[in-house]
Amino acid sequence: MAVIPSQNSTFDITVPVAIVGGGAAGMVAALSVADTGITPLILERDAIPSGSTGLSSGMVPACGSKIQAAEGIEDNVKILSQDISQKAHGEVDMAMVEAVCAVSGPAIDWLVDSHAIELTLVSGFLYPGHSRLRMHAPPSRQGVDLIGGLTVAAERAGVDVMTEARVVDLYISEQGDIEGIGIERPDGAQETIGCQALILACNGYGGNPDLVARYIPEMATANYFGHSGNQGDAILWGAELGAATSYLGSYQGHGSVAHPHGILITWALMTEGGILVNAAGQRFTNEHEGYSEQARRVLAEQDSLAWDIYDQRLHELGLQFEDYVQAEKMGAVKTAANIEELAKVLGLPEVALAQTLADCRRYTKDPSSDPLGRDFSTKPPLEPPFFGIKVTGSLFHTQGGLTVDTEARVLRQDGSAFGNLFAAGGAAAGLSGPADWGYLSGNGLLTAVALGRIAGLAAAKLIQA
Ligand SMILES: Cc1cc2nc3c(=O)[nH]c(=O)nc-3n(C[C@H](O)[C@H](O)[C@H](O)COP(=O)(O)OP(=O)(O)OC[C@H]3O[C@@H](n4cnc5c(N)ncnc54)[C@H](O)[C@@H]3O)c2cc1C
Repeated sequence: MAVIPSQNSTFDITVPVAIVGGGAAGMVAALSVADTGITPLILERDAIPSGSTGLSSGMVPACGSKIQAAEGIEDNVKILSQDISQKAHGEVDMAMVEAVCAVSGPAIDWLVDSHAIELTLVSGFLYPGHSRLRMHAPPSRQGVDLIGGLTVAAERAGVDVMTEARVVDLYISEQGDIEGIGIERPDGAQETIGCQALILACNGYGGNPDLVARYIPEMATANYFGHSGNQGDAILWGAELGAATSYLGSYQGHGSVAHPHGILITWALMTEGGILVNAAGQRFTNEHEGYSEQARRVLAEQDSLAWDIYDQRLHELGLQFEDYVQAEKMGAVKTAANIEELAKVLGLPEVALAQTLADCRRYTKDPSSDPLGRDFSTKPPLEPPFFGIKVTGSLFHTQGGLTVDTEARVLRQDGSAFGNLFAAGGAAAGLSGPADWGYLSGNGLLTAVALGRIAGLAAAKLIQA
């Protein structure tokens, strides 16, 4: 990984806009460029574009979309911005938050109307911190269908996608403009590509254990659940370029990954009434604060384990999610007719577990009675038959990255913007504050889609100027 002075370099080919990474951010940026009549080139290190987008649940939060309107949901930039800021305890750049939120709904409309991406509103429950139903997802609730739809749309729109092309070098002029990139093929062959604008859409550093240990040491030994090809290349180039970075210690964790099966168990089980207990059969966290910060809390428990406890009503909710269906098929979901059997099947102490469930039932009568601060009064208490899943905490993706402005232009440490360098998605700093607790569900794909759209349009405008 290097930044090389271009000094009259000649390139094997030259394109108007090069995009590093073929996840949601790269695809959305490319579609935005292509719509203006300019043909962009995506460089993707894998044989098939997927990224963390392909591993995700594909839920993109957005406000003011036609899909929301059709369901009678009133949402706007102010409300979504407030939800994001509140989750991050105000530790966000509000100009960035508002710029991203303003683009979110129109970007969803455009993806659906102009590029035939199939998205539906996720209804029936709210993720923690969201005051409106605003998750737009493929009907399957699987990111593999989101990236699949985007890839087909990119082909249809004439976007060039070069796979098995890992970008290793950036070429920079004396004036500080990006003039081209160097790529490496799986057989070691090197090629160079000149460009008038470059968009970094190569996500964060979750797949790079050295960077994880440096910036988020509490996750150094945690299982990384995202795409392994995300090695932090954007921030490594950024360091050489003198680019500013923000919130490098910020990340999305998740406290409910079935163990040892390694399958994401939807947090909807917790928001809708389930609880998380430790090996002592006791609750140790407020499950309604969000799933990101729960990873660290679960990892701090004995053997880094916890158990999701819920009932038939929530089991049926879980069955809406393909991951949950898979978890059940693989035997991760245990059922029991009563508490005694539940304790036995999960290997938890019966008396303590019974006490925990009795306490939670009591908390439903008074919203302020839970010592951990959760309001149990809005959902019915858990009823037999009971269900349980052994889970652990995982790192899903990093949220820190290159500091960008509201046009997705990468900023230098002195605050000035690079002329033709843009970043979107996980390559850019997120909207989640400095740590794990600031992540509002969906902040990942929000900045992939909305910043991808902003970056693509800004790059196209630059070429056309
Ligand atoms: C299990 C899981 C579930 C999730 N669910 C959700 C969800 O429902 N909603 C949500 O908002 N977020 C979710 N997230 C987070 C979300 O997946 C990411 O925030 C989002 O996909 C980031 O998009 P991206 O385009 O920036 O990165 P990616 O989709 O990871 O794409 C980056 C691409 O860049 C490529 N690349 C990297 N370096 C190079 C290089 N040097 N040269 C060429 N190519 C390169 C990679 O191979 C990859 O294809 C989830 C994450 C996980 C792990």
